[in-house]
Amino acid sequence: MKLATGILYTEKQIKQRVEEIAQQVSVDYAGKTLVLCAILKGSIPFLADLMRRISLDVRLVLIEMKSQVDGEHASILFTSSLDLSGKHVLIVEDIVDTGITLDYLLKRLEVERAPASIRVAALLDKPEARKLDVPVHYRGFTVPDKFVVGYGLDWQERYRNLPYITWVEPE
Ligand code: 5GP
Repeated sequence: MKLATGILYTEKQIKQRVEEIAQQVSVDYAGKTLVLCAILKGSIPFLADLMRRISLDVRLVLIEMKSQVDGEHASILFTSSLDLSGKHVLIVEDIVDTGITLDYLLKRLEVERAPASIRVAALLDKPEARKLDVPVHYRGFTVPDKFVVGYGLDWQERYRNLPYITWVEPE
């Protein structure tokens, strides 16, 4: 696979959209403490930009997940400690593809951590690939059914550092 020559979303477009989401989150959770629950590693740039624009009392939990390549299973590899019981939780995800990872995480958190509420902020949404119906409350951009990279998203651990979003394609 090689990097495509085109760009899906520029650095400027991403910055503007992330600011809009941060403003909306700040309005929606006004007066509340918000726990951002970021899914490693792909959400790191989104998280870093989003959290600095949210004008609330914010806490942070990091979760590392394994999305199986067979597209049927997900599992939690690591969670930084913080009590979510009775808290308002916003999951920060890089991309929702089949929805399997998110569906698994939502169910686990709802059952085991008893938060007051859970919502999802996903930088990217790829609806054409969806297998499970999962909620996306704050969506950055909708992308076509390509393997997208950049701004945190990788292909075999490469391209996470690109400041824009593009895709990889066969050589
Ligand atoms: P899902 O469980 O929704 O199929 O996939 C979730 C995870 O798969 C994402 O958090 C991301 O790590 C990875 N993923 C899915 N689609 C893409 C894509 O187009 N590009 C990259 N870089 N990762 C993806």
